[in-house]
Amino acid sequence: MSDRLSRADRRTLHRMDQQIIGLPLYMGNDPRPAAAHVRHLVHLLRSEQSASPCSDAVAHITAVFDRTVPEQATKMIACRKGCSYCCTQPVVVTAPEAFWVAAQLRKRPKVVAAIKEAAKSFGPLPLQERLNARQFCPMLEDALCTIYEGRPIGCRGFVSVDLQACLKMFDRGEVTDIPMPNDTVQVLYAARIILAVALRLTKLSAKVYEMNTLLAAIFAEENAEARWLAGEDLFASLEAGPPPPPQYDQAIESMAKYVTPTI
Ligand code: SF4
Repeated sequence: MSDRLSRADRRTLHRMDQQIIGLPLYMGNDPRPAAAHVRHLVHLLRSEQSASPCSDAVAHITAVFDRTVPEQATKMIACRKGCSYCCTQPVVVTAPEAFWVAAQLRKRPKVVAAIKEAAKSFGPLPLQERLNARQFCPMLEDALCTIYEGRPIGCRGFVSVDLQACLKMFDRGEVTDIPMPNDTVQVLYAARIILAVALRLTKLSAKVYEMNTLLAAIFAEENAEARWLAGEDLFASLEAGPPPPPQYDQAIESMAKYVTPTI
C-alpha cells in the first residue's frame, strides 16, 4: 500500500502551504515550512503553462532567501552598492538558476556575446588562476550587477563582513575565507537544500557548473530549458562542480523522504 497522502489530504495541505510560502522561511527544527516551499517548487517546475518553469521556481526561492536573511545580518556586512570585488570570482549555479539568468539576457546580445567569450577564456580556470586573471563577470557594468534582482543564489549569499578580506582576494589574488554572517550562511544552505530537494523530486539534476560555461551552453541550444526539463542531458559534456558535502546531502535525502508522500 502506498504511503502517499490521499488527493483530498494533498489539497488540504496545498491550501495550508499557500499561507506559508509568502512568509520568511522558518529556520527552526520544524521541517513543515521548508516542505511547503519544496512542494511549491515542484509545482512550479512541473508547470506546463509557464514560459520558464525554472525562472518561476528560482525567482520563488531567491525571494524566500531575500526575505529570510535577518536584518541584523544585513547590517553586519561590508558590501555596498558599487563594491564589486567579488564579481571576479567564479560563480557556480544549478541549471534552473542559469535558465533564469539566461531568460533575463535574451534581449542583451552584447552581454550574451561577452558571456560566450568569458566561457572560453576564463570559465574553466581553477580558482587561483581565475583570481589572478581578475576578469569581471560579464553582467557587471559600472561596478553594478545589471541583473541584481535576478542574480543567482550564490551571488545573493556571497556577502562579507570584512572588506579587507575581499581586497586580499582581489588585489593580491590570495584565496581567503571571506567572513560572512552566520545567519546568512544558514539561510543560503536552507534555500539551496529546498531547491535541491525539489529537483530530486522532479528527477532533475542539481549539479552545479561555472556560470558563464553553463550559460554559454544554454545559449548554444534551441529550446534548452524545455529539453532539459524533459530529461535531455544537455550538459553532459560540461565539467560539473563538486557534489554537495555528505552532511548537506543527508539533509537533502531526509527532506526528500519527508516530502515524497505529500506530492
Ligand atoms: S551575476 Fe551580478 S552579482 Fe553575480 S558575479 Fe555577476 S555581476 Fe556579480
